[in-house]
Amino acid sequence: MPKIELHAHLNGSIRDSTLLELARELGDKGTIVFSDFEQVILKHDRSLVEVFKLFDLIHLITTDHKTVTKITKEVVEDFAAENVVYLELRTTPKRNDSKGMSKESYMQAVVEGLRAVNNVDVDFAHKLDAEAIENSHPANDRNSESRRKKICVRLLLSIDRRESTEAAMETVKLALQMKDLGVVGIDLSGNPVIGEWQTFLPALKFAKEQGLSVTLHSGEVPNSEEVHAMLDFLPGRIGHACYFEEDHWRKLKSFKIPVEICLTSNIRTETIPSLDVHHFADLYNSEHPVSLCTDDMGVFSTSLSHEYRLAASAYGLGMKEMYTLARDAINFIFAGNDAKEELKEIFALVSKELK
Ligand code: 5GP
Repeated sequence: MPKIELHAHLNGSIRDSTLLELARELGDKGTIVFSDFEQVILKHDRSLVEVFKLFDLIHLITTDHKTVTKITKEVVEDFAAENVVYLELRTTPKRNDSKGMSKESYMQAVVEGLRAVNNVDVDFAHKLDAEAIENSHPANDRNSESRRKKICVRLLLSIDRRESTEAAMETVKLALQMKDLGVVGIDLSGNPVIGEWQTFLPALKFAKEQGLSVTLHSGEVPNSEEVHAMLDFLPGRIGHACYFEEDHWRKLKSFKIPVEICLTSNIRTETIPSLDVHHFADLYNSEHPVSLCTDDMGVFSTSLSHEYRLAASAYGLGMKEMYTLARDAINFIFAGNDAKEELKEIFALVSKELK
């Protein structure tokens, strides 16, 4: 079944095998102690605090442009392999002076990764499509090319909650600069116990004014005031919504803000105790817009297909319900109408096969 992934962090989606390979290289150079790293990667039941410790470790080994390009290429290939037809991939642009990396060159390395994918066609920016396809498949190969798989990828630039107002603004300006390279929006993420909403608000407001879509990690820890402020901001979507109270739900539903649901992530980090009390069920039953997502398929050892299987078994969804759930996410992707129309066609074709 074709699927739409709206909440995936690049550095959380790296294959374990690639992480271990990169860690071994750094271990050999004496930069890190490989055995410590290996244990952290292979541990599967991490708390939210341990997850952020792991991200700090991951960021130690994904610091150069070549690695950023490699992991981007692999992450897109992995999503395409399980029939994700539209992927919004988010990542925090990072500066690393020792590697000559600026936020902009980090993002260029990500775009290089999109260009490097060769087992599936990647539509990441309409203006570049024709050129990219021409380069990767010669004209005399057109017939076989039309049968090749295709994935549409758009990028979200994440603001990390550790960042200052100025750094957040720099990320938004970079996103605006990269609109022609498939950047469609801004995400606010990072350790939820760090940072104040007011610090990021000027940059998020600016993003919205300039026509970028915004999604916010919301309610990963109890913080009622912040959740209210986030909902009042009217973001295009929110992620998680775990520690929501009655009046938050009321507001969310009346504003019809779509929710990115990350079942495995919420259970693993213990922000929700079990699937039978997960808010997916209530939102789904009240026909509130929701989309199943992986969050960090590497860190949480999951896949989008697995998230659908979980929802099917925990909430009794049949094939038709899962198809409708996957298809309806088209309504709240951040890409424009062209991408939406193309996705509708893809889902319509499958619908015929289902009948
Ligand atoms: P990156 O932005 O480096 O490509 O992906 C990893 C980063 O995404 C983490 O350092 C963190 O800032 C953010 N992230 C990944 N998973 C989560 C999550 O479950 N919650 C929050 N708040 N942030 C996350």
